[in-house]
Amino acid sequence: MAMRQFKAESKKLLDLMINSIYTNREIFLRELISNASDACDKRYFKSLTDTSVGITKDDLKIHIQPDKESRTLTISDNGIGMTKEELEKNLGTIAKSGSFDFKAENQSDNIDIIGQFGVGFYSAFMVAKKVTVISRAQGADTAWKWESTGVEGYTLTEADKDDVGTEIILVLKDDTDTDKYSDYLEDYEIANLVKKYSDYIRFPITMFREKSRQKPKPEDAGDDYKPEYETYTELETLNSMVPIWKRPKSEVKDEDYNEFYKNKFMDYTDPLRVITSRTEGTATYTALLFIPGSTPYDYYTKEYEKGLALYASGVMIMEKCADLLPDYFSFVKGVVDSEDLSLNISRETLQKDNQLKLMRTSLEKKIKNELHAMLVNDREKYETFWKNFGRQIKFGIYGDYGMHKDLLADLLMFYSAKEQKLVTLDEYIEKMPEGQKCIYFAAGDDTDRLGKLPNAQLVLSKGYDLLLCTEDVDEFCLQVMRDYKEKTFQNINSGDLGLETEDEKKAAEAAETENKDLFEEIKKALNGKIKEVKVNPTLQEHPVTLSAEGGISMEMEKVLRRMPNAEGVESTKVLELNPNHTVFAALKAAHAAGDTDKVAKYAELLYDQALLIAGLPIEDPVAYAQLVCGLMQ
Ligand code: ADP
Repeated sequence: MAMRQFKAESKKLLDLMINSIYTNREIFLRELISNASDACDKRYFKSLTDTSVGITKDDLKIHIQPDKESRTLTISDNGIGMTKEELEKNLGTIAKSGSFDFKAENQSDNIDIIGQFGVGFYSAFMVAKKVTVISRAQGADTAWKWESTGVEGYTLTEADKDDVGTEIILVLKDDTDTDKYSDYLEDYEIANLVKKYSDYIRFPITMFREKSRQKPKPEDAGDDYKPEYETYTELETLNSMVPIWKRPKSEVKDEDYNEFYKNKFMDYTDPLRVITSRTEGTATYTALLFIPGSTPYDYYTKEYEKGLALYASGVMIMEKCADLLPDYFSFVKGVVDSEDLSLNISRETLQKDNQLKLMRTSLEKKIKNELHAMLVNDREKYETFWKNFGRQIKFGIYGDYGMHKDLLADLLMFYSAKEQKLVTLDEYIEKMPEGQKCIYFAAGDDTDRLGKLPNAQLVLSKGYDLLLCTEDVDEFCLQVMRDYKEKTFQNINSGDLGLETEDEKKAAEAAETENKDLFEEIKKALNGKIKEVKVNPTLQEHPVTLSAEGGISMEMEKVLRRMPNAEGVESTKVLELNPNHTVFAALKAAHAAGDTDKVAKYAELLYDQALLIAGLPIEDPVAYAQLVCGLMQ
């Protein structure tokens, strides 16, 4: 009998699992029960359309049996079972979910890799030195036995099994001074673990328990009769089987919700918020939704699959129903159980199902309201949420041509230059002093630098606040929105801010007329890099700044250029000079002396400087450095 090898990454993970310092070993039972329950669901689901399956819902069950003598714990189910190929595929490879390399080295962090990567079955090796799986698939004539003692590999042989289903036999590891694996053979311990982790499982989880009772008192017992006891075994159902979402909220403890969430959705952090909802009328459903407490590792990648588990009258019909969630709420996890859906609905008909559309609309409103309630009542949690998923909300506003901006806008948060913390748009508007017409923002890589931009200081000096936008998507999101509560968004480096006084305006106009020739010369020297040169009287100690005209800002140009096929994307730049700066005087003098070479050099320098201040790359850093050196010598 040949020993089969595990796939490479499986081996690595298995190794880690076996030698795990993982403190929470007991979850192996929850993992195995959860697999058994899924298998029962699948078989039941199949029976609805295939009469040959020949079972009813009441026939399905999960049985756990400890045996102290052989030191084994057996978990069996009469679910769908596995064929030989499935045994090999499902149990011969792990971490099917992909990027696995990441955390294997970090085992000291004690991260729940087991949960996060769907390697549920393998957790059995945390407590067992040998695992045997005997399974017979629905419709198969023979059963197969998969057996493994860990990293060496596994064997697969034909086996005897009369009924459809799966039996998993764990030979527990030997006890050590610190680890008492034999605890898992005690029936009270097993009963506790089932209650703790698997109470809501819809199928009965049974176990034979040894009990003791007083024998009936004999008729002829005398005064000195001492009661006698006898032991007997009883098949006990360990779980209450009521799905957690069907239980009244008042009866469910927070820990229960958290435990359910972590178990069902493979997360290692408690959810930030639990949303329960029961509606009747146009769409009748019960929903139990969760806002995750951390960002899934693959959240912002193509691999991430959104969706809610969909149940029809308590029977799971789809694990991840994507149609129930809009993309901008794709981080929401949860369960929706509806009596309105037919059990044998197919994926295709589901998409067109009117009931489903109604549910989606109603869920969307509910999620929005809960998020907003969190923002109002639980700021700290909301900020955690925002840190994790705010980007998704911004994409939501930007996507579909801004169709969802009204729904999402009051969830937005940006960093305030004045308050040095996150503020909502409503908070920004509330604090606007009289006379402030628009919502100012600056976009770039980091908040510190943005706050130091010449125009940022100008805006702040007027007593206005400024939103510092540091994510790629920010400006695109604001551009799609255009305004919020009738206040337009104004990029401080785009167009005319109109913040100069009447006197400054007049002086600028005069300076522009006076220096028309000089500006032409500068423009020519910069050879197409700028559209025009202007005078900006509000620059104070800064000699120069750049602004953009039209729809594409300089920061957007930078973001777009990182994307494929972005050639030709360019902002229309205006070079703004400070007429009160000594540098301006130097320019004028060079021009007056007819030194075109010097004017050209100064123009290059000022342009590059303005780019640097704006946090934009300069085209030719070497040329820039040489220019500076040339002037210093
Ligand atoms: P996951 O449950 O996250 O998919 P597991 O490693 O726990 O990962 O299980 C791998 C696969 O093996 C399951 O998806 C399922 O197809 C199959 N499997 C595991 N246990 C059983 C069982 N008791 N009955 C039928 N199939 C099972």
